Amino acid sequence: MSAQLKGKAIIFSAPSGAGKTTIVRHLLGIPDLRLSFSVSATSRSMRENEQDARDYFFLSPDEFRTRVRLGDFLEWEEVYHNQLYGTLRSEIDRIWSEGRNVIFDVDVVGGISLKNHFGTTALSVFVQPPSIEVLEHRLQNRSTESPDKIAMRIAKARHELTFAPRFDMVLINDNLEQALQDAEESVRKFLHT
Ligand code: ADP
Ligand code: 5GP
Repeated sequence: MSAQLKGKAIIFSAPSGAGKTTIVRHLLGIPDLRLSFSVSATSRSMRENEQDARDYFFLSPDEFRTRVRLGDFLEWEEVYHNQLYGTLRSEIDRIWSEGRNVIFDVDVVGGISLKNHFGTTALSVFVQPPSIEVLEHRLQNRSTESPDKIAMRIAKARHELTFAPRFDMVLINDNLEQALQDAEESVRKFLHT
């Protein structure tokens, strides 16, 4: 890839339910930021409102492991038991070759790996919920996971919150309007410097 074709990278990480998807969708809707979403691969099942190749490339666990062996992932994680998620190298090539900046929504371990890989080309943002209790209510209201899956995500969130200081910035998502405004301002500043 030639140097002129290299864009920038924005990484959003947080415990599940903190609001990454909501914030990333908002940023994708701002044309002059020239952001395109890096569609990850996952072996989890598709939710009702999701579409293959738009939200994720939905793969079977076997297909996912084949792609791991082929070296197709820049990073991948078993984020939850038997649920694999990974960043495809081909997504970054595609987005940068279109002259756009890439935006990622990945778990905290993936976010730290991507930041290590991209260095100063990337801004890494940790989205922090006001509390674990609020996080749990958000997951319950989202109604996309069963109660046992929500419990699994909350248990993991306690550990994930300790990773916040390893990110370039922490974005508190309490009042959504404020969080969207702060996210836009920080991303705009990073892209224009
Ligand atoms: P993530 O992608 O981090 O798992 P989502 O963006 O799906 O999180 O948000 C989880 C749920 O919380 C969604 O139902 C979303 O509409 C809601 N939500 C996001 N931010 C806020 C907020 N600041 N206040 C209240 N609800 C929120
Ligand atoms: P969900 O199942 O709610 O869509 O995502 C669960 C978690 O997996 C979220 O924290 C999400 O950011 C993360 N995730 C999504 N794609 C990737 C990826 O490519 N790599 C890693 N490491 N995590 C991912």
